[in-house]
Amino acid sequence: MKAYVVEREALIHNIQAIRGFAGTVPVWAVLKGNGYGIGLLPFSKVLRDNGIQRFAVTELKEAETLREHYPEDEILMLRSTADPAEINTLMDLGVILTVGCYETAVTINGIAAERAASARVHIAVDTGMGRYGFLPDDFDKLISVFEYMKNLKVEGIFTHFHSAFSNEKATRQQFEQFTALVERIREAGHDPGMVHCCNSHAFVRHPEMHLDAVRVGSAFLGRLSFKEKLGLNKIGYAECTVEELRWIPKGQTVGYAAGYRAKQATRIAVIGLGWYNGFATQRENDLFRIRDSLRGILHHVKNLFLRRKILVTVNGQKCRVLGHVGMVHAVVDVTGIDCTVGDKVTAEMNPLFAKGLRVLYR
Ligand SMILES: *Cc1c(COP(=O)(O)O)cnc(C)c1O
Repeated sequence: MKAYVVEREALIHNIQAIRGFAGTVPVWAVLKGNGYGIGLLPFSKVLRDNGIQRFAVTELKEAETLREHYPEDEILMLRSTADPAEINTLMDLGVILTVGCYETAVTINGIAAERAASARVHIAVDTGMGRYGFLPDDFDKLISVFEYMKNLKVEGIFTHFHSAFSNEKATRQQFEQFTALVERIREAGHDPGMVHCCNSHAFVRHPEMHLDAVRVGSAFLGRLSFKEKLGLNKIGYAECTVEELRWIPKGQTVGYAAGYRAKQATRIAVIGLGWYNGFATQRENDLFRIRDSLRGILHHVKNLFLRRKILVTVNGQKCRVLGHVGMVHAVVDVTGIDCTVGDKVTAEMNPLFAKGLRVLYR
């Protein structure tokens, strides 16, 4: 048995804390990446049961699944698409499309005109992310969406912060660029609709930036990379069982590259969780620039010299992983621990990287 266990009560606590902090501002729950690894449908059900009925996705399939189950909810496609088949299906489903460049706007407008319909859209603005969105300097192109694309119904406008988890100054600059642009649109006589910019980190750290709506993903899972946690907690853990138990003699090595050598007779347990499953991987750090991850690097160096300890819990007792974690298994030291084969093992893990694990809600 191996699974990622979602503690329903902990998830509900986070949803309520987020809704409380948002106050009257609507919350878009971002559900990309299979709902950050905890399952698009089960996650969205808990969200709905707790008052959230706006969902943002990045894949057609996600939009289709949500629409099938929730005929009335708002669904926002968070990325641009220029694929006519995709655009047609999304329009059929009543999904709000993202428009982030002139050419894509023309494409969507053309399809909507053929259908003699209007496509609901939010405009994406690139204030530094360098991904989707009109550059503020391309104001004429942006404004042409309002002035010439009669089959686009602009219902909102948004930007995305690149460093809300680490760089307040950059976030403020992006925010100011964005709000100034929105002001220019209004001055030109157009209504930009729902104005939004906050992802989880900006949502927590900058309540003054909440505007007309916020887009929250990782905060629901209690995974924020700074201290202001808003009382949010992690909502689950990986679970597996002890598959084998034995005593190894002094001098015996464990795992690939003989990464560990027993200093004395050691009782070991083999557990069915490995790096392929997302266990003991540090990929979160990929998000950060070198400058921002100095602390992370120091941490790694320290681990190297102090022999990094990866811990799991066997029968409620902390145990150390020995040697290198394997692809789908690991070996832990259970000397002096009361346990037998089949006993439960739990481990902290980011579900976003979980592969080959069932997701269970408890
Ligand atoms: C992923 C994403 C979010 C949510 O980010 P979190 O930090 O997980 O809250 C918001 N907006 C956009 C455009 C995204 O791609």
